[in-house]
Amino acid sequence: MPETLVVNEIYLSLQGESTFAGLPCVFVRLTACDLRCSYCDTAYAFAEGKKTSLEEVERRIANLALPFREAPSLMRLPLVELTGGEPLLQENALPLMQRLCDAGFVVLIETSGAHDISPVDARVHRIMDLKCPSSGEVEKNLWRNLKHLKSSDEIKFVIGTHEDYEWAKHQLNEHHLSSICPVLFSWVSPLTPEQQHKSLKRVPAGQTPISRKELAEWIMADALPVRFQVQMHKVIWAPDARGV
Ligand code: SF4
Repeated sequence: MPETLVVNEIYLSLQGESTFAGLPCVFVRLTACDLRCSYCDTAYAFAEGKKTSLEEVERRIANLALPFREAPSLMRLPLVELTGGEPLLQENALPLMQRLCDAGFVVLIETSGAHDISPVDARVHRIMDLKCPSSGEVEKNLWRNLKHLKSSDEIKFVIGTHEDYEWAKHQLNEHHLSSICPVLFSWVSPLTPEQQHKSLKRVPAGQTPISRKELAEWIMADALPVRFQVQMHKVIWAPDARGV
């Protein structure tokens, strides 16, 4: 039996987040997630997907990467990112990442932080969320993942409220996160009505939304050693556009 993954979509775009933002990247979006964050903009990946062999996934990535083949570059481009959904829910994501690293790709994974990251190939850049209170999923954070992080990984806080900011600042100091790896403070883009899936958690009552200007200015006022980010692809394309 061939090894398979349930794949929602595979496409070439620009990396919109992380310290790799702006670089060409092939995204492999895997189906299913066991969380329901209040701000989730990829609810379409909760169930939609097609069973695909690892060989077919690799072939499609190689085809999208082909035009970059001859371009001299300090870093192999395009990047390849596994995202979701939650890619670590499918065990065959592990051999896929290994095979992509063996093939010379720079490989990233976006994970919720709710699952054990230790089995992921050490060459992969793990971009791990710590879910803030407004996500509605803060209790799912798997804190023991922190001890597995390396300097080549990244920690992301998606911040939508004043309460999220204070919580993230506390975790940053409590766990000395900026001494482990780059830390991203990412502003929550409001969902369009079409993106508001009925299964998503609600923002807990009593929280105050934060603007991106407030987030940027508070980071500077508090002299936090973090990277502010907005989702670049939503600035370039429509916020609800797929495959970009
Ligand atoms: S972890 Fe949250 S934001 Fe990410 S896919 Fe799952 S529900 Fe959406």
